[in-house]
Amino acid sequence: MLSMNKNLRGLVASSGRRHLRVSTPFNTNFTRFSPSTTTSTSTTTRTFSTNASAQEKQSSSSTFKPNTSNSNDNTFKNGKYTFALVVVSATMVLIYQLNSDDDDQEQVYAQELPPTTNPAPAISHDVLSLDKNDPNRKPRLVILGTGWGAISVLHYIDHTKYEVIIVSPRNYFLFTPMLPSTTTGSVDYRSILDPIRNAIYRKTKNRNIERDSIQFYEARCDAVDYKTNTILCEKLDAPGTLKIEYDKLVISVGATINTFGTKGVEQYCHFLKEVDHARSIRKSLVTALEKASYPGLSDEEKKRILHFAIVGGGPSGVELAAELNDFLVEEMNKLYPTLLPHMKISVLEMTPHILSVFDKTLYEYTEKKFRRDRINLLVQNRVMEVKDKELVVFDVQNKQQNIIPYGVCVWATGIKQNPLVEKIAATLPDSQKHKFALSTDGCLRVQGIPAKNIYAIGDCSRIEQKKLLDTMVDLFTEGDADKDGKLSLIELEELIKKNKKAYPQFQLYVDKVAHYYEKFDVNKDGMLDVNEFKSLLEMADSQLKPLPATAQVASQQGEYLGKSLNGASHINTEVDPFVYKHLGHFAFIGSRTAVADIFNYRSGGFISYVAYKSAYFERQVSWKNRFALIHDWIKTTTFGRDLSKF
Ligand SMILES: Cc1cc2nc3c(=O)[nH]c(=O)nc-3n(C[C@H](O)[C@H](O)[C@H](O)COP(=O)(O)OP(=O)(O)OC[C@H]3O[C@@H](n4cnc5c(N)ncnc54)[C@H](O)[C@@H]3O)c2cc1C
Repeated sequence: MLSMNKNLRGLVASSGRRHLRVSTPFNTNFTRFSPSTTTSTSTTTRTFSTNASAQEKQSSSSTFKPNTSNSNDNTFKNGKYTFALVVVSATMVLIYQLNSDDDDQEQVYAQELPPTTNPAPAISHDVLSLDKNDPNRKPRLVILGTGWGAISVLHYIDHTKYEVIIVSPRNYFLFTPMLPSTTTGSVDYRSILDPIRNAIYRKTKNRNIERDSIQFYEARCDAVDYKTNTILCEKLDAPGTLKIEYDKLVISVGATINTFGTKGVEQYCHFLKEVDHARSIRKSLVTALEKASYPGLSDEEKKRILHFAIVGGGPSGVELAAELNDFLVEEMNKLYPTLLPHMKISVLEMTPHILSVFDKTLYEYTEKKFRRDRINLLVQNRVMEVKDKELVVFDVQNKQQNIIPYGVCVWATGIKQNPLVEKIAATLPDSQKHKFALSTDGCLRVQGIPAKNIYAIGDCSRIEQKKLLDTMVDLFTEGDADKDGKLSLIELEELIKKNKKAYPQFQLYVDKVAHYYEKFDVNKDGMLDVNEFKSLLEMADSQLKPLPATAQVASQQGEYLGKSLNGASHINTEVDPFVYKHLGHFAFIGSRTAVADIFNYRSGGFISYVAYKSAYFERQVSWKNRFALIHDWIKTTTFGRDLSKF
């Protein structure tokens, strides 16, 4: 197995060299890649090798001679592009080869091939129990999910301290912020995915002794029994179940799409949350274009087929509209010139503005740009029903119902509770029921679990922030050191200093205690009485807002949790709650422009676009993805998007 792999790699390398020669600017004749030569590569290594040398001869006899019969300007131009492409690709292959650890991988795979055993029973119910009598065993940490939160815990957890088991129905991490770019083929799906096995390998490769301390099972967790510390999962690639005992459990299962019960959405709309969704949008887009190309269609029917309706004017909907518009501008002119006048993109949004999570200047900038690009903005329009070819829409402003024909509709609205979370909440105290997500304390422990060994992070969780007003009396007593029934400025400063970690809302006053002390000292006696202190706490509590459901929050929570589970000395889980640091946000709005809101710097345009691309490039989880992205960006800019439908 090992030697065969090496042979194959040698052959791939040699075939790579062959390509380089074939594609010199002097020869654009590709006849050497005839079916007969390529078929032979699929036989044995030996056969491939023989053919390779035959090809080598063939190419050496023809490649280095200038092809005089084809050496006109056009050929030379084509040759230049081919040469540029080959140089870029060859550089990437070389860099990849240099960076890859194939030798290590081959050895490890060779060692870890499972011994041949009797065939497994058709349905197996496996149990991974804990050996509680083993004093040397490491505690078992089970992580549910392979999204932003889970991958961040995996990154930070010290696997020498835990036996880590990851369970997810998806065996890869998906870089969701770039999902809209894959719908039009600007970026390839695989460039924004990272298989979980690769992530585990990267984490363990330098510590071979601990390699088996991280396991992954492709399964869906269906139930959590916190009384017996067990989860029950359904295997996805074989019939049967998997029961796993845990010492600690991290729930990071995200959320699902919210259709708000709108009739017809499940049946007729596309979603945009997973790779499969992006694939199906891309396929429908190309299908619509080909369908509208048939002769004999009326203009009205063409218009309907080529109407792309996006429901939801949040960042995902806006980015999708921008990607589609770029696609129309850059590809339609070239590839479907007669269809261009019939194309339309609409964004339907219930509230008065699209991109309303951004600052007013930025959403206004975006709206202006969209209108200039002739993207049809239907704000204050609520979709009531989706039919086969029509949307039933209620115009809130004009209080009237409209029928809008469409060809492709994408539902990009909010999110709702994951079914697993709903099930878990039903077994917990009343405070957890009927909530959008699992409530946790500030240290991300799920509330209502007596053993305090279950954590929830990311979109499936919500921190119940402690209110200062609930402990007002205790805080006042603690602050009033001289027991005179009032708080002096020094006493208040001391109180805030001691409690700012437990109550992050106190941060509001940290640098301006004197200013706020004066503001709340209504009777100007130089002291704060109980009522004045109460107003001060009320204002701090009003700053508390639920954290947004974003990748930023999920990954920061994963980092906090990983570090705190490792026993990091700077995190005392009793008093140091998770504190979110907002790093700003971006949205791509088309034609190489983006809007950016970073550390109070708000701007829209090309510079923001460069910042957006750089940030997403930097945030990729592996170098493989970064190279793939560069490749995609160069390819799309140079040659356009690929419209093959499969
Ligand atoms: C198109 C799009 C664009 C976005 N753009 C941005 C952006 O620009 N910036 C930003 O900050 N956020 C963005 N987001 C939001 C961001 O992706 C989410 O907030 C983030 O993915 C939440 O991370 P998570 O780990 O909680 O859940 P997810 O990343 O959704 O991961 C959930 C994981 O749990 C697994 N799972 C589900 N059910 C089970 C089960 N029963 N058992 C085991 N595993 C299960 C899933 O397979 C998945 O692996 C975007 C989202 C989308 C859809």
